[in-house]
Amino acid sequence: MQSEQILIVEDELAIREMVVMTLESAGFESLQAADVLEAHQQVVDHRPALILLDWMLPGDKSGIDFCRMLKGDELLREIPVIMLTAKGDEDNKVHGLDAGADDYMTKPFSTRELISRIKAVLRRSSALSSEMPITIGALSLDNKSQRVSADGQLIDIGPTEYRLLAFFMSHPERAYTRTQLLDQVWGGNVYIEDRTIDVHIRRLRQLLRPYGCDTLIQTVRGTGYRLSSLIETK
Ligand code: CA
Repeated sequence: MQSEQILIVEDELAIREMVVMTLESAGFESLQAADVLEAHQQVVDHRPALILLDWMLPGDKSGIDFCRMLKGDELLREIPVIMLTAKGDEDNKVHGLDAGADDYMTKPFSTRELISRIKAVLRRSSALSSEMPITIGALSLDNKSQRVSADGQLIDIGPTEYRLLAFFMSHPERAYTRTQLLDQVWGGNVYIEDRTIDVHIRRLRQLLRPYGCDTLIQTVRGTGYRLSSLIETK
């Protein structure tokens, strides 16, 4: 497997070096930038798999400006961004997520947490950005147009149910706990209860029922849920 390149944008050399060491010991390749200008060049040249982006950077553009710019660019918006900031300021957090950041970390952070957040964000973004339509049974999901159809009939589906279904369809025949689904579909940094999953599962099944596809979403007793085209026999 080709190792994935991660860009760290940080003006403090000590932090940058610590992050680079952490990334490399976890098997990632790293790219570095000390300000937005360098970061932009790295993104254009290398298209990294993910960007770790410091909030406070020298020069006239901050990390948040850069994040907003990336997320407004049709060719670059799919690169996930984890914002780094010195303070756990809730306002900053909201601004970061508003600017389109995929996750948010407060310095100082543990290297273990950094790697687990990176892996979670990468998993989520690859699950949701598959280029080819996925078809399972009568059900078909097209990521490019963000449409779901059953036997060629379009299904009117909300954004959360879409993300949930997109995750299931790209990981069929595997059981997931509610906590895993929260982490993969909503992101680990979102504070919602496990039981919220049940509500979205119920809605998803209701949407699929008229097409006879609701049985694809199965309850796995004692675990959680899975998508399977194999009919369960009791
Ligand atoms: Ca800084």
